[in-house]
Amino acid sequence: MTDKKTFNDLGLSAEMIDAINRKGFEEPTAIQAMTIPLMLKNNTNIIAQAQTGTGKTAAFGLPLIQMIDANANTVQALILVPTRELAIQVSEEINSLRGNKNLRIVPIYGGQAIDQQLRRLKRGVHIVVGTPGRVIDHLKRKTLKLKIIDHLILDEADEMLNMGFIEDMEEIMKHTNPDKKTLLFSATIPKKIQELAHKYMDGYKLLSVKKKQLTSNLTEQIYFEVKMSDKFEALCRIIDIEDGFYGLVFCRTKSDVDTVASQLSGRGYDAEAIHGDITQTQRERTLTKFRNQKTNILIATDVAARGIDVNNLTHVINYSLPQDPESYVHRIGRTGRAGNEGTAITFITPSEYKRLMFIQRIAKTDIRKSRVPMVKDIINAKKKKINDDLKNILEEEVDTKYISWAKKLIKDKDPSEILAALLNYCFEEELNPDGYTEIKEFKGKDRDRDRSKEVDQQGKARLFVALGKKDNITPRKLVDLIISKVPIKSRQISDIQVMNSFSFITVPFKKAENIVTSFKLKGQRPLISHAKK
Ligand code: AMP
Repeated sequence: MTDKKTFNDLGLSAEMIDAINRKGFEEPTAIQAMTIPLMLKNNTNIIAQAQTGTGKTAAFGLPLIQMIDANANTVQALILVPTRELAIQVSEEINSLRGNKNLRIVPIYGGQAIDQQLRRLKRGVHIVVGTPGRVIDHLKRKTLKLKIIDHLILDEADEMLNMGFIEDMEEIMKHTNPDKKTLLFSATIPKKIQELAHKYMDGYKLLSVKKKQLTSNLTEQIYFEVKMSDKFEALCRIIDIEDGFYGLVFCRTKSDVDTVASQLSGRGYDAEAIHGDITQTQRERTLTKFRNQKTNILIATDVAARGIDVNNLTHVINYSLPQDPESYVHRIGRTGRAGNEGTAITFITPSEYKRLMFIQRIAKTDIRKSRVPMVKDIINAKKKKINDDLKNILEEEVDTKYISWAKKLIKDKDPSEILAALLNYCFEEELNPDGYTEIKEFKGKDRDRDRSKEVDQQGKARLFVALGKKDNITPRKLVDLIISKVPIKSRQISDIQVMNSFSFITVPFKKAENIVTSFKLKGQRPLISHAKK
């Protein structure tokens, strides 16, 4: 293993280290270890090849926060992102890392009322996280000035390219300070991105996380797709159905580790936690107990679990999705050791599905979708265990005082009634199905439905347009086309996605029908229709 860097090695200020600790990150991810020191030197442009989920937002967010002058009331950085969701996500992530620094970060994206954005821009902001279309709107209105920004960050540049934003990106780059530093983050670096870099970035350093050869062992690997709020219930069910569960549960942050451990203890499980804030003595004590199986559940962060040498684990649970394929393989390699069978279970929320598929592809492994055990199956498994235990007990000799007691009892009552009452007395709580709560599991179909429901709840509809790049359509042209036929403002059309032969747009529900009917041509297939859910 190479020497791992700590956050203290990267040139971050004490305030930033404090904010990172509060956020619960223990160790920089690979892309953070490479990007942060370089960005803090502030003497080069950077192209970083990094996927979503690698911690890239903090990789550029942390140095940005440190370098921004909070006393100056000007926009000092623009982060361009392809979608509204990402704009919100990135600004929230950066906001959560700013600690006590008095920074104002605003997301600006199509679909949100422009007046609100105008008010916030007027009040003065330091970092703008925006989608290309809306940033251009503001540039035209002169409500956003980029001539003095110090940093331009293009996040998910290849996605912006795929969505037909290249012209918008170029347009925006032309409006920015020529002396700024540009950082381009992209999962892939296609030719178009290279061309863009040659044209607009005066020299750059290329960073990419080296992909190590990944091989996973023969551990059975499954995943459950559940809501974030159902993860804990799912974990309890997995522990309950397994006779002799002995497992390591991985969480991403220290605070998650603490929460899961205390929730488990609260429900009566023998669970303990280890993470970076735990003293060495405490850690040793906890590990010894776990090794000796005095506790059968250990909750840990990746860092804290490093170097734990425990054999015979029945389970490794990824309560939160690992950072990257390498750490997935590392985590699950802890079960199924020394010829023992083990199960690796990964929990994902619907929005993490793509990331799991990415991990699966890179780790060259097979992670099967499975269902969280049903309550009746757990109860049956528990009953079976009681029956087995009883059988074993019956093999042993029983003290005669119990035999005479039993004989007295069966004189007045039917033996099966007595036994039933005794079982009820001993196991009522353990076999009570009401101790479990409902879990909603997602199938592929639900995942899409769930997403479109989210849009619907915000009063929006997603429309399919039978025109794409091959028809020379760009997001701009598409908006112009719709505006020319329907009374709708360009800012009401958002999340424009132009593919090769078709496109998608999001519009207010109330306008959707009008758009669909306005583009209907007699005897022809509709040009615009509701996107399939
Ligand atoms: P991103 O790739 O920026 O979308 O980040 C993915 C997730 O990883 C986010 O939930 C971050 O909060 C989390 N994250 C980023 N850096 C770290 C780190 N060093 N340790 C633990 N979690 C992290």
